[in-house]
Amino acid sequence: MSSILEVAIPVPLNKTFDYLPNQEVAVGARVRVSFGRKKVIGIVLAHKDKSDFDKLKTIEEVLDDVAILDAPILDFLSWSANYYHHPIGEVISTALPKNLRIGKEAIIKKVVGLPIKTSEPNFETTNEQQLAIDEISASLDGYHGFLLHGVTGSGKTEVYLRLTQTVLKQGKQVLVLVPEIGLTPQMITRFASRLNTCIVSIHSQRNETQKLDAYLMAKDGTAGVILGTRSAIFTPMPNLGLIIIDEEHDSSFKQQSGFRYCARDLCFVRAKQVNIPVILGTATPSLEVLKQVMDKKISRLTLMKRAGGAILPKVNLIDMRTEAGNALSAMLIAKMKQHLSSGKQVMLFINRRGYAPVYFCTQCGWKSECDHCDSSMIYHRHINRLKCHHCNDEKIPEQTCPDCGEQSLEVLGYGTQRLEETLGSHFADTPIIRIDRDTTRRKKAFEQHLEKINSGEPCIIVGTQMLAKGHDFSNLAMVGILDIDGGLLSSNFRGTEHLAQLLIQVSGRAGRSGQQGEVAIQTRYPEHPIFNYVLSNRYTQFASTLLKQRAQTKMPPFSHQALICANAKVKQNAQDFLQEMTSLLKSIKMNSVEIWGPVTPVMEKKADYYYSNLYLQSVDRKSLHQMLATLNQHTSTLTLKNKVRWYLDVDPIE
Ligand code: ADP
Ligand code: ZN
Ligand code: ZN
Repeated sequence: MSSILEVAIPVPLNKTFDYLPNQEVAVGARVRVSFGRKKVIGIVLAHKDKSDFDKLKTIEEVLDDVAILDAPILDFLSWSANYYHHPIGEVISTALPKNLRIGKEAIIKKVVGLPIKTSEPNFETTNEQQLAIDEISASLDGYHGFLLHGVTGSGKTEVYLRLTQTVLKQGKQVLVLVPEIGLTPQMITRFASRLNTCIVSIHSQRNETQKLDAYLMAKDGTAGVILGTRSAIFTPMPNLGLIIIDEEHDSSFKQQSGFRYCARDLCFVRAKQVNIPVILGTATPSLEVLKQVMDKKISRLTLMKRAGGAILPKVNLIDMRTEAGNALSAMLIAKMKQHLSSGKQVMLFINRRGYAPVYFCTQCGWKSECDHCDSSMIYHRHINRLKCHHCNDEKIPEQTCPDCGEQSLEVLGYGTQRLEETLGSHFADTPIIRIDRDTTRRKKAFEQHLEKINSGEPCIIVGTQMLAKGHDFSNLAMVGILDIDGGLLSSNFRGTEHLAQLLIQVSGRAGRSGQQGEVAIQTRYPEHPIFNYVLSNRYTQFASTLLKQRAQTKMPPFSHQALICANAKVKQNAQDFLQEMTSLLKSIKMNSVEIWGPVTPVMEKKADYYYSNLYLQSVDRKSLHQMLATLNQHTSTLTLKNKVRWYLDVDPIE
């Protein structure tokens, strides 16, 4: 029996803790230990002979006979902790399924079986698909990064499926990462109908027992394919042979709380570590990935044509400057009628849920705002409430204006609910299917909506960006895009990149099979340069103009950023803390790192806390990380640290 155990414990401290064993215990196993006055669950990281502390406590209980985390995964997790400058105990805790985190037994409750019936497709691959498959197949036995840049509907999934078949034949496992919402059930069905292997999935629609089963089946090698959202990147897989990340540009690969990692970036690290290829698929590559192509770090494979003979939709703009206040232009309504009457489906995209975004006084201009956030309250009609989408506070709408006392309160603007209602008056006989967070909260609700759409009956689909991602609705002929002008005026330097991706992804839902589809974008800024590119489907050209701008201004991906965000109930505390932080950073003297701020974010107050940001930027990633590592060693000297909440975000996207 070794003399001392080094244990990682999920606490916000940048260190590990030493304990004495009470029996043999494997590295990577869970142990229960007393920590302060509490009992907590930790992971054994190493056996060692000496500790800097005397009077060590003995562990209470060993939870696993064998390691839960094998050596490669422990290496990967400690690399991640290091890179993101985040405590290893919290990193491990994020990586584990909840049931393991809380100490449940690591046993599979219900074994996931093989798919019932699989079949081969009734089509041949296109030339472009075959070229991509051949090139990737030729480099399956070592690390290589591939961007599979295929227009929407070009058959990227078919490429994934055929490569997965090859990798499975070699007795290896495949990890497929997909964006957060909705897409997963559809992907699972597609994989299960083709691949004669056990396919497990790890995403928010699974319950904790299912997630643990999936994790353990991946870990013991019985699952051939693991399909999951971002956290699946941390699944132990002893025979990993290929990583696929679909819709690479999607922002849900970045975790925005706690341990703020980016699964897309970590894919490269994991693939290098086990020396296997990684494929990033998308119609709208992120500038980060395009930069890697430019630098020849990854290879780009393109699918320019839609598969099965479908062609990309025709995109038109509708000038809304002449349509005072109407949500739907006459032109859009006419086009919708035309498609519906020929038995087709139509989709309207509006990126706001609820009934109306503004509740205001027509007499004095008063506007309902959240008491806890710098944000307006959204009116939700079916429950007659005003809701804040940031802190979830809600209240009954006032009858008379709190400022002038007049009974002159009205709603302004459109959300999905109001759009659904307005559509009802124009299209009384057509079913309307609304898809947003309010209509899909129930488990399975999203799948039921998708089933209805997939039946192919003419209908109008109204939805938020939940609809933008990867869906393949075969009878959808037209897409209308409403209310995107806010995105054109965004102050975020990534604003137009994200808007172009969104427009192209949403447009890509139209005309996926058969006749050419049609897209209509309503805007009050038809001259905005972004439309030049979107109208002619020239995403790559648009991206290269953006890349040039970023290169000139030395913004990411031509430099590297870290964000230090502080927030406090007392506004001054957040700012003072960041001033103190700035002095500390300046004392580290890393000349190539620029420090900006503290700056006040657009939304300063959120759920009663005032936010303030400090940005660090450098063209030299190493210097930036050296600075952060040094900072981490000295944060205990910050005198205001107990008056604020703060976090570090490496490679922030907001
Ligand atoms: P993407 O993932 O690029 O958006 P999909 O893989 O979903 O595209 O393919 C779009 C549609 O085209 C699917 O219905 C798929 O079955 C079909 N498809 C894919 N490859 C081919 C092909 N080589 N010939 C005919 N149809 C194809
Ligand atoms: Zn008023
Ligand atoms: Zn609020």
